[in-house]
Amino acid sequence: MSFAGIYPIPREIVLLDGFLPIEDATIAVSNSLPPSSIDSARILVEGIAERMKSTLKLRCISDIPCDERFIFVGEVSDFDEVGRRISSLADKLVFHREGYLLAVYDRYAAIIGADPHGVFYGVQSLLQLIDNLGCSSIPSMIVRDWPYKPIRGFHLYLPSRDNIGFLARFIKYFLAYYKFNTLFLEVGGGMRLDRHPEVNAGWMELCRDVKARGERPKGPQNRFQDSVHHELGGGGFLEKEEVKAIVEIARRYHIEVVPEIQSLTHSYYLVAAHREIAELPEADWPDSYCPSNPGSYKLLFDVIDEYMEALKPRMIHIGHDEWRTAGLCSRCRSRDAADLFAEDVTRIYEYLRSRGVGVAMWADHLIKGHNGVGRRKVSADLLVDTPTTWQAAEKIPRDILMINWGSARSPENDEELASYGFKQIYGNYSSLEFIDWPNRSRHDWILGGEVSSWLDVNERTFWRDGVIYNAFMSINDFWSIHYPDRIVKDHIFSRISRILKARLSGRDYPSLMGDKEFFMVDIAGYANAPIRDEVEGYDLSHLYKGEVTECSPIPFRVSESRDKAVAIVDRMVDSRVSIRIGRRANSLIFIHASTKPGVKVYSHYASFRCPDLAAECIGLYEVVYEDGFREIIPIRYGENIAEWNNTLYDTLSDPILDYRVDGVSLYAYEWVNPYYDKVIGSVDMIGVEGLSNTKPILVAITGVELQSYRRYFESGLGRRMHIGNRF
Ligand SMILES: [Zn+2]
Repeated sequence: MSFAGIYPIPREIVLLDGFLPIEDATIAVSNSLPPSSIDSARILVEGIAERMKSTLKLRCISDIPCDERFIFVGEVSDFDEVGRRISSLADKLVFHREGYLLAVYDRYAAIIGADPHGVFYGVQSLLQLIDNLGCSSIPSMIVRDWPYKPIRGFHLYLPSRDNIGFLARFIKYFLAYYKFNTLFLEVGGGMRLDRHPEVNAGWMELCRDVKARGERPKGPQNRFQDSVHHELGGGGFLEKEEVKAIVEIARRYHIEVVPEIQSLTHSYYLVAAHREIAELPEADWPDSYCPSNPGSYKLLFDVIDEYMEALKPRMIHIGHDEWRTAGLCSRCRSRDAADLFAEDVTRIYEYLRSRGVGVAMWADHLIKGHNGVGRRKVSADLLVDTPTTWQAAEKIPRDILMINWGSARSPENDEELASYGFKQIYGNYSSLEFIDWPNRSRHDWILGGEVSSWLDVNERTFWRDGVIYNAFMSINDFWSIHYPDRIVKDHIFSRISRILKARLSGRDYPSLMGDKEFFMVDIAGYANAPIRDEVEGYDLSHLYKGEVTECSPIPFRVSESRDKAVAIVDRMVDSRVSIRIGRRANSLIFIHASTKPGVKVYSHYASFRCPDLAAECIGLYEVVYEDGFREIIPIRYGENIAEWNNTLYDTLSDPILDYRVDGVSLYAYEWVNPYYDKVIGSVDMIGVEGLSNTKPILVAITGVELQSYRRYFESGLGRRMHIGNRF
């Protein structure tokens, strides 16, 4: 399957001869276009300006002369008004919900959505064509496209205040760009609650304690409790205006926010300051409220009210997964756990329905093959006590949207849930693990899926833990009916990942700038290791020798010597290789790989205290400026380097895999130099001791210098940033 520039793969695409130059086109709208579609036209203007540095005019189609190039943006309902200008499209219109027609001819293009969402998705597809085809002329084509499934979700925690900007970029440049339409936003105690400030205070105290412990709290008698999600809000809370702003950004980009307000289970945030409603008050930090205590609902509904007022959701996700403390208090002890569960769900459901809000929940306690059949397990150090609750499925309302998670390899769970009449989406979906999506998803009671991030919401963890990669791989299942091989999807991802990295970081990478000039550092004189070493376990002999410019977007020079081909340092602090640079640079790109896999753990486990421990530091680059000033760059396994024969693509936070030939993978890590005015004397590669015996292999260094910087510096017209002292 060849890639025509739009992902997820559109339903129908027909390539034609010719091109539309878009630099001098006008964006055209009808007179009657509704505001949300006008905004999609504006998003197209903004998107083109960002990519091509030219701001196209936005005008009514009736004001555009016949000989002027235009891109029409509108809805099917506009067609009567504008059809005269684009009459050839009459028989190609798309009427499926969220669908669009994108037609590109050499005189004009048209994006015609079946509804406002369709208009928006047509705009995103056109922006993708500009990104992926890398030119200001779009090849002529006709795309007819609409989604396979109506719910294409992503689950995350409220971010910390520092990461609101990242989340905004993630929504715009990733989720919306790839046509996700639902954000399950877990909120807990992470928004300022005016009526219950003690809930916020309790939440913060709990998170501080959990970070100090370095693990989730246990209950009495080493009782296993569910997870705290202490990363939510960074362990603190946001102001209402900040949370509202997140929801507004999502709405502008056609993503519906479904707040997840966890109830019954994972309710630490409610109980922290209200031990009187806890099911197990003697726990250090109780994880559930008591469903027989009316006080539980008084507090919960107060909290729900504040979220409803602030966020105005159409649906709320009420949690309810992983109930570990059921029927323990004196009021609940005589009750059946399934009855308690069903009564709790129904009570919250009725409260929300009476206010016109729909309900979603995790489905595990309704499935016998999942958490529905309790399994009491006592080991030497842990009591895992789960109740039998599956009978509740027969007792709760059928119009609750079920989120069926943990069923990637259990197709029978889908049918079991459906047999009660529930509609469902797959939760914690991963295209890489899920068995038989095309067949299992064909039923109309499967409404889609959601990809989850159970992590700090930030750029580093989202890349490093493969969240971005997994979401990228999975969205094609939710939207498309075409299933390219993983290797094809990898290739599509690799083409966009450098741009995506820059957009999600909000930073300019010099290697992506228009006035960049690469310079290749010759490391042959500093190399200390052969091209192939059986003891160290690497073999780079398939690398091209000399200057590599064809198969990598970053040119680099490989030593031609077989014996002194690459630079390696041992895992000890006095192991060092010093490489002369001797010039100014805006960035340096290290082309490297490691000899073996290093140590890397899921960020959640490192998040309690030391997030850096999630990716083992296997060496350092020390940039030494000529004035003696130094900058240290850690080389972290799974973050900016991976093993030379790694074939996966899923885990680097700098996922710039530019080069893969004959089983050799190299990673290009771009370090942006904050001090252009200082001459870089050398880069020292330094060993560090650590957990594994993997070693970094430096194959090449390529520098980037921006012509604008050099011109101002050399001509003396720009100001030189000397402040008088050495550093
Ligand atoms: Zn109770």
